[in-house]
Amino acid sequence: MAKFYSSLSEIKSELQSGNITVVELVKNYLDQIQLNAHLNAFNEVFADEALTRAAQLDDSFKQGTAGKLAGMVIGIKDNICYKGHKVSASSKILDGFTSIYSSTIVERLLAEDAIIIGRCNCDEFAMGATNESSHYGPVKNHADNSKVSGGSSGGSAVAVQANMCHAAIGTDTGGSVRQPASFCGLVGLKPTYGRVSRHGIIAYASSFDQVGPITRSIEDAALLLEVMAGADEYDSTLSQKPVENYSTNLQQTTGKKKIAYLQEALTSPGVDAEIKSNLTQYIEKLSADGHTVTPISFEHLDYLVPAYYILATAEASSNLARYDGVHYGYRSTAATDLLTTYKKSRSEGFGKEVKRRIMLGTFVLSAGYYDAYYAKAQKVRRLIREKTESILQEYDFILVPSAPEPASEIGRVEKDPVVGYMADIFTVQASLAGVPAVSLPTGNNSKGLPLGLQLLTKHFGEQELLNFSKYFLQL
Ligand code: GLN
Repeated sequence: MAKFYSSLSEIKSELQSGNITVVELVKNYLDQIQLNAHLNAFNEVFADEALTRAAQLDDSFKQGTAGKLAGMVIGIKDNICYKGHKVSASSKILDGFTSIYSSTIVERLLAEDAIIIGRCNCDEFAMGATNESSHYGPVKNHADNSKVSGGSSGGSAVAVQANMCHAAIGTDTGGSVRQPASFCGLVGLKPTYGRVSRHGIIAYASSFDQVGPITRSIEDAALLLEVMAGADEYDSTLSQKPVENYSTNLQQTTGKKKIAYLQEALTSPGVDAEIKSNLTQYIEKLSADGHTVTPISFEHLDYLVPAYYILATAEASSNLARYDGVHYGYRSTAATDLLTTYKKSRSEGFGKEVKRRIMLGTFVLSAGYYDAYYAKAQKVRRLIREKTESILQEYDFILVPSAPEPASEIGRVEKDPVVGYMADIFTVQASLAGVPAVSLPTGNNSKGLPLGLQLLTKHFGEQELLNFSKYFLQL
């Protein structure tokens, strides 16, 4: 059994003292990948390439030229482009497609000597919260193989959970980094909208999509964010704000903070009893430590999920128009002319959930319904954002569970998709408001399934969020 390292600094000291080489490290992960193949976490493993890079890194270590992320072996979600490598968004429609350029974040990670060991399974086009919409099948939770991994970055989370790589990169549109991290006992960070480049990330809903790390420690989350964040001429939504040195500035918060928690999380019948008691325990610990912890009620709570799904599907229907059987990947062999190429390729290439969303998104954007749904949802989004910002003027953090229930049985959402949508209730607020949020592991339930709590803070408050998370995790 390969050793679990809780942070890159542990790996680095092992490398420096000569206890292990990068090649051995990569071999260990490759063994774990083989041993855990049944979890279905990877769509493809770049074994030879990872070993070659590892050997080069062992040399750079000796010469003292290794980058910040040397020794960090990562998995990337299969919607992140890496030049010369296949990328599928776990969809049949991208079958056989190879990235012709690398995403900015991949370039930045490689420039600091991270090793990318493979591309991780995910929900098709990142649409889902259980990883069950993947064309390549569901990812199983390592804590209980009958349970889902969470999603949409389920493969990324399980790859780290089962020690198949040290950390992973996911994308979070409405919770896809935070929720699988919570189902797998890990840290999952969604940065502020506009902090990390999406150039070279397969778009789902562009006004929400963000890239974020899934890690075992806050230190690693800080380091990965620091490397990935910052202006990029290829993504005009990015802020020009300088990137803080999150990892070197990382310091466990010592002062007393004002924390608001969502009252409904403790009273709503839809929230699992053990999640409620987990939240209560942390509220008590924080209060006992001298923080001001206040229950608040979020008046727009009932509108969070509907507003998110109207806007996300509208944007998805537009973003996914480009998969037409002509430009990318899969083309139906039954096509006879241009129209049947579009129709048959899309009908055969997209899965059920993606089709459902394209249709819903097209509907809410259609001339007769635009005002009633899309325009209305935009207004609701504005209210949600303003209300969230005003809470965060008064409080340093908002504390909510990451999900209303722990990882569910594989197959459950298939029977009732609305159950799946409602499960996003606690993650979409940060996405709609564009604020940063982190899911932190807060122990297991009585069945051994990991639970997580989430902290939200102000736009570009990542440093504070990380510092407080470091404190929170030792409570
Ligand atoms: N579960 C949400 C959805 O299906 C969020 C997915 C995501 O963040 N990519 O849209």
